[in-house]
Parts: sequence; C-alpha cells; structure tokens
Amino acid sequence: MAKLESRIPSGPLADKWRNHKASIKLVNPANKRKYEIIVVGAGLAGSSAAATLAELGYKVKCFVYHDSPRRAHSIAAQGGINAAKNYQNDGDSVYRLFYDTIKGGDYRSREANVHRLAEVSVNIIDQCVAQGVPFAREYGGLLANRSFGGAQVSRTFYARGQTGQQLLLGAYSALSRMIGAGGIELHANSEMLDLVLVGGQAKGIVVRDLITGEISRHAADAVVLATGGYGNVFNLSTYARQSNATAIWRAYKRGACFANPCYTQIHPTCIPVTGDYQSKLTLMSESLRNDGRIWVPKKKEDRLKPPASIAEADRDYYLERMYPSFGNLAPRDIASRAAKRVCDEGRGVGESGLGVYLDFAEAIGRLTEAGVRERYGNLFDIYHEITNENAYQVPMRIYPAVHYTMGGLWVDYNLMSNVPGLFVLGEANFSDHGANRLGASALMQGLADGYFVIPYTIGDYLATQKPGSRPAADAAEFKAAEANIAGITQRLLGVNGKEPVSHFHKRLGKIMWEGCGMARTAETLEKALQEIPKLREDYWRNVKVPGSEKTLNQSLEQAGRVADFLELGELLCLDALTREESCGGHFREEHQYPDGECKRDDEKFAHVAAWEFQGEGNAPLRNTEPLNYEFVKPSVRSYK
Ligand SMILES: Cc1cc2nc3c(=O)[nH]c(=O)nc-3n(C[C@H](O)[C@H](O)[C@H](O)COP(=O)(O)OP(=O)(O)OC[C@H]3O[C@@H](n4cnc5c(N)ncnc54)[C@H](O)[C@@H]3O)c2cc1C
Repeated sequence: MAKLESRIPSGPLADKWRNHKASIKLVNPANKRKYEIIVVGAGLAGSSAAATLAELGYKVKCFVYHDSPRRAHSIAAQGGINAAKNYQNDGDSVYRLFYDTIKGGDYRSREANVHRLAEVSVNIIDQCVAQGVPFAREYGGLLANRSFGGAQVSRTFYARGQTGQQLLLGAYSALSRMIGAGGIELHANSEMLDLVLVGGQAKGIVVRDLITGEISRHAADAVVLATGGYGNVFNLSTYARQSNATAIWRAYKRGACFANPCYTQIHPTCIPVTGDYQSKLTLMSESLRNDGRIWVPKKKEDRLKPPASIAEADRDYYLERMYPSFGNLAPRDIASRAAKRVCDEGRGVGESGLGVYLDFAEAIGRLTEAGVRERYGNLFDIYHEITNENAYQVPMRIYPAVHYTMGGLWVDYNLMSNVPGLFVLGEANFSDHGANRLGASALMQGLADGYFVIPYTIGDYLATQKPGSRPAADAAEFKAAEANIAGITQRLLGVNGKEPVSHFHKRLGKIMWEGCGMARTAETLEKALQEIPKLREDYWRNVKVPGSEKTLNQSLEQAGRVADFLELGELLCLDALTREESCGGHFREEHQYPDGECKRDDEKFAHVAAWEFQGEGNAPLRNTEPLNYEFVKPSVRSYK
C-alpha cells in the first residue's frame, strides 16, 4: 500500500508556506551544479520550472514531444490568469481567492495548497510583466482585469484572447535564455515513454526520438513531469489533438498513485459537435460570459426559429434566473449542467438540439460593436472561421465539452509524488482544484508550480541525495525499461489488424462521454466498465499501425497514446463509480438535491482517492488521503 504523506506544514494557514520555506532543506550553490534534473514538458508549468531551476544553477535536461516548446497546449489558453492583486479595489484579497478556489472545487482540495496558490498568484503577475508579457491595460496604464466564473471580483489578467500564448512566450524566453547560457539541454521531438526507478526512486526516463525513432536512456537526480492533462481520453475535447496521458500513465504503472481520475471539467462554452467525423472541439473562452448572455427559448417549439424572431418575453436567460448572484458567470460545472438540463427538456437550439445561445446583442448596444471587438475580436474571428456565422449579428451557439482534468498524479505539499524523486507540476498533478477548477486558475497553478514552488521544494529532496550518486543510464533498470518500450512497440506494430488507431479512440470517446460524461450513474458507469475492456481487447487484435519504428511514424505515436487511454478510461470510470457522491464536475445523478445541485457526502468522501497500480490484470488499489478542513467550513456550495 502506498504511503501518502501530504506533508502539509502545521501552523496558521497564512504562515504555512513561509514557515515551510524557512525550514525545508537547502542545496548550496556549489552543489546545485552537481545535480541533474529532467523536466518532461515545456508548457507553462514545464518551461517555467526548467528555466527557474536552471537559473538556480541545476543542470536541466528538458524533453518535449513538440518540435518547439512554443507549441505546448498552453498556447491555446484564451481568457486569462487569476491573481489576488486587488487592482480593481473591489474587495479582492489572498483569502478571497483562496476561499473562492476551495468553494469552486466543492471542498475537495487541500486548504494549504490552495492558500499557497493564492499567495504566489501575485508574484506571477510581477514576474510576467517583468518578462514583457503584454497584459491588457486600462487607459491610464494600469493592468486591466475582467471577471471569470465563480468570483464576484475582477481578478483575471489577460492579453486579449491569447493569454496562454503570451505567457508561454514569456516562459519560453526564460527557457531560451538558459538554453543559451548552457543551463538547459533541450530535447525537442522527444517523447518520454517510460520512467526509470532505481532503488525505488525516480532516476531517469526512456525517450523515443520522434523523427529518427531512436530510443535513448537518460539518468538524473530527480524527474519532473509537467506533461499536461488527460482529457483526450474522451477523444473529442478542447485540448490540442496531441495532448495525451502517456507520461503520467506510465509513471502510474511504475508506482506513482493516480489521484481523483474522475474529476474532469466540462466547459460550458464550446462550439457544439457537428458530426461524426469531427476530431476536435473548440472553446469559446469563459471571458465571453462577462458580456454575453446565455439563453434558450422558453418554448420547445421555438427552438429552430431564427433567434432574432424570438421575443424577449419568450427567452429564458436560465443562468440569470437560476443563479441571480453570479448569473452568466456561474462556475463551469454548474453552467454546464444547466445547459444540459435545458437541452434535455427539448429547448436546445441548432439542428442537433444540443446548443444554447451566447448572445452579445445587449453588449453591442452598451459597448458598440467596436467595443465588443476590442475585447473579444479574435474569439469572434475563431467562431466565424469554424461556423461561418457572424456572432456580431447572430448569437453564438455553444454547448459543454471536455476541457480540463482536475485529477492527475498524486503529489505532496512539495509537489513530489509518492515515488521519491518524481515531481509533478501543472495540469498533470491533482493538486489544487478539487472537484472543479475555476476559470483562469490553470495558468495560475502551472506558473505557481514552475516559478515559485518547485524551485524551493525540489531542494528538500535533492539534499538527501549524495551529489554525484546518480546512476548511469546503462544501469540494469534503464536497460529493462528500454526493453519494456521495445516490447510495447513491437506488439503494436505486430497486430497488423484492419482498423486505424483513430477508429478505437473515437469508440472509446463515445463510451466515456455516455458513461462518464456530464452526468454519471452507477448503471452508465458499470456499462462503460464492461465495454472498455472489450474495446481494449479488440484494439490489440484489430488495430493497424503501418510503417516501422525506425522513422517518423505518427500512427505509432498515436497507437501508444491510445493504448494508454484505453487503460486510463477504465480507471476513470472505476473512480467515478466508487465515489458515491456528487461534487463539482463529478455529477452522480443518484446524488443530487431536488433542485438538481450536487449532493456531497462529506462523511464518507472528504478525501482524495489515490489509485495504485497492482500489476497487469489486477484491480488497482484505492488509497485515500483525508481532507481536513481547519479553516473553512465545508457547506453546500451555492451560487444563487
Ligand atoms: C482551449 C483552452 C483554453 C484554455 N484557456 C485557459 C485560460 O484562459 N486560463 C487558464 O487558466 N487555463 C486555461 N486553459 C487550461 C490551461 O491552458 C492548461 O491547463 C495549461 O496550459 C496546462 O499547462 P501545462 O504546462 O500543465 O501542460 P501543457 O501546456 O499541456 O504542456 C505539456 C507539455 O508536456 C509535453 N509532453 C507531454 N507528454 C510528453 C511526453 N510523454 N514526452 C515528452 N513531452 C511530453 C508537451 O510537449 C508539452 O510541452 C485552457 C485550456 C484549453 C484547452
């Protein structure tokens, strides 16, 4: 059974991080040069970590499967990044950001982690401004803010609808500086396929060069995974098509616990699915809900009428009606379920009936079209590119879609997994968002982890490792891991079936969406749990992976990732089945209040479920870490 020591410092909430930093072990500057750290991933979490660790003097090797760190999925982030700066003078504070995040996560995250996140949020903005990130500014030159879901203050910093891109360029420039200075060795087009443990500690990785097919082994004193989320287990999502779970899944199979895999976020404002051949869904940023109003017709028979012909009195602005305090800025889980409910009632718009309107007519009246364009122009352009509709003239049609995963590898307060020496950052870990993430806080967490947490906490582990004691990359454990990868590769190429990888990914996505999507029941989950192993069997009998392992082979890359999704999907459903309550994005229909809101069971489920691999063919073990609320009293989450 895994040992889950959260290592949350004692003492008052606001002092925990400061005291922790003052008491954990340090590595002296001369010794830092003797340690090598592998960082896998160079999205916001990975590049900020790699750059900062190298600035500190550690030798860093950074691996990405992209051809450049600038292509990481973080680049897609649109709406903004939260920070408790209170520039608006509207009552924000570190405590309020902490409280909103804890409540937003439906009381399923650690208080100490979330408070630290709120504390360092203010440093992130200063760091990024110093790097030259072009945040939007007010007329007088101060940084501008807008609102995001689940908050009654404006604390979201943004760069039009391209915040992720601008932040990533900042982190990439920090990374590049250290590549130039010789502190970081960048390995692009390199996919980590296995984690190597020596003496029970993470000491390296096995990597495939995606251009040449060459497999290589890399040793280090510690390994940091910042490999993003696993939402593509649903196939259709707002993620970059390439995003995958392979790094964290293979680490799980080496002993790292996987926490709360069923906590997935379904974002309410995405462009609806249009057909069976679609491979990607597109987000319309939550920032649009600052000014756009969401509605459906009151009467079913109006659902196919041109929206302009539906009188004001015949429209149901259902979020404003149901959640008057937060209105259109109700949190994502709540807004998504409300959209599902009105569509299930037969009032959904568009041909499929799976859509609601996001309407800017009132905002255009208030701000003018130019004013709306200035705030959201590129998002309207994206919408036009995809739908060929002009959202300045007709309302956007939106529907919820898979967007983010709150679950991930279990980590302690130092962001170290239960495998000593293995650290996990950003969306790849489970740390801060509980059962639902509030908008604009993934960027905050990724950069907090990379710029402000790991640089302190990794030293606490490295100080226990003798400098120069790192194993060689030809140690037996490395060779065994390489042989494991060669075995998986040969098996995939050897099936030589009839169906492409995408065929199975699509089928898995359907099972996952129907069984474990926006609403789940014991019945749908049990059905999914029967179907997934059958699909997996079919995969290993009938998948066709053309080409060889010795060259660029994107089918082979995809085949490995989908093989992992076919296993992870099962764990996700099992986690959802075992968690007999509703909380945040995990909505079990059996557990709801009469008004359709989530019914938590704090007595039985106020804990993190951390799953431990028990070997192929064996049921995984469900470990738990209790969540103790010392400073906030968990209550029924209300946005009414
Ligand atoms: C459309 C969209 C809009 C969003 N908008 C916002 C927003 O406005 N605000 C907000 O806070 N959040 C937003 N999010 C969420 C946020 O963008 C992500 O959660 C965050 O960027 C994840 O960062 P990361 O560094 O953890 O991972 P990623 O950016 O996904 O980076 C993963 C990195 O790991 C590498 N990698 C992965 N696996 C391997 C492997 N096996 N081997 C080698 N390298 C590997 C990749 O190459 C990449 O460099 C949005 C998400 C989407 C989908």
